[in-house]
Amino acid sequence: MSFKSLGLSDALLRAISKKGYTTPSPIQAKAIPLVLERKDVLASAQTGTGKTAGFTLPMLHLLSQEQPLRRRPIRALILTPTRELAAQIYANVKEYSAFLDIRSTVIFGGVNAKPQIATLRNGVDILVATPGRLLDLQSQGALSLAKVEILVLDEADRMLDMGFLRDIKRVIDLVPKRRQNLLFSATFSKDIKKLAQSILNNPVSVEATPENTTCLLYTSPSPRD
Ligand code: AMP
Repeated sequence: MSFKSLGLSDALLRAISKKGYTTPSPIQAKAIPLVLERKDVLASAQTGTGKTAGFTLPMLHLLSQEQPLRRRPIRALILTPTRELAAQIYANVKEYSAFLDIRSTVIFGGVNAKPQIATLRNGVDILVATPGRLLDLQSQGALSLAKVEILVLDEADRMLDMGFLRDIKRVIDLVPKRRQNLLFSATFSKDIKKLAQSILNNPVSVEATPENTTCLLYTSPSPRD
């Protein structure tokens, strides 16, 4: 299995090889073709499985298929619970889009909003955000979610644990009804299933690891391997 066989563009393959990845992780091998087919995806995946590239790479592929619009409305929104995760996802988006004409930025609370507002004003294709700051800047008129085509809920279980359910619902009311949804969660509680049901449209479920295993992908090989 190679990244090329998953159908990703040459510009993305260059960025992937610059990162030093040679083989897609299991979650990437399963999720990337589905996202490229514009399916809604419900993914069970923890940090360490390569999930970020699993949604970011096909998202970049889809967005870069079309000529960028002059005013660069936000076309993809990645919601994630913490500023650390937001910063990490954004760093990945930047690296993977190195050879593409795609603009992205990240916003989170606890820091001055002014530089974030200034960047948003210039137009971005992809926005990585924590829910609170996103709604804050939206209510100030600093951004619009009216043109979002792809919505990613990353670490959805943690977002619910942190009390973001109401915020997520408010965000859903701000994005177009017709859109592609990707929901990633390490666990599947009743609440997550309910959320998934209310947001996703005919989703395909994928899992990072087979059931009953706790091993993650990027542990170092044991001497016997
Ligand atoms: P994530 O689960 O998205 O937080 O990714 C975990 C780590 O795996 C990150 O350091 C990624 O850069 C790395 N990674 C993601 N995909 C691959 C891959 N296909 N091959 C090697 N490393 C990868």
